[in-house]
Amino acid sequence: MSTITKTVESKVKNKEKNLKKATDSNDLDTVLDNVKKIDATCCFTKCKKRTSDFGIDCKYCSSRFCTAHGLPEIHGCGEAVRRDEQRKFQHPYTALSQDKHGKAADKLAAKLKQMQFERKAKQCTSKSKK
Ligand SMILES: [Zn+2]
Ligand SMILES: [Zn+2]
Repeated sequence: MSTITKTVESKVKNKEKNLKKATDSNDLDTVLDNVKKIDATCCFTKCKKRTSDFGIDCKYCSSRFCTAHGLPEIHGCGEAVRRDEQRKFQHPYTALSQDKHGKAADKLAAKLKQMQFERKAKQCTSKSKK
């Protein structure tokens, strides 16, 4: 019995020694660990949610956020999104498609006007008959 407790005690002591070694002498390792921890958490200030398993990378600030702060508008990239959308809006392709849409709407409006005109004409003829 006494021999078993002795070995356990020695094992515990060894563990403590290793821990002391890791924190005292290997400064670079601890720094790297800290960096890893920072890397694996949400970049939003005051948020410490882990993003190592599931996170959202923002393409505007290239930072990693948790699902709650992944939207650019929430973590402060709203201005960048607006600028990006404006650029898309001014893109010639979107302008062309908008022009097409406008023409289609014009056609529809013209057709409706014609239908209204025809209806009025019918009303006029029926009235004149009576
Ligand atoms: Zn962002
Ligand atoms: Zn977060």
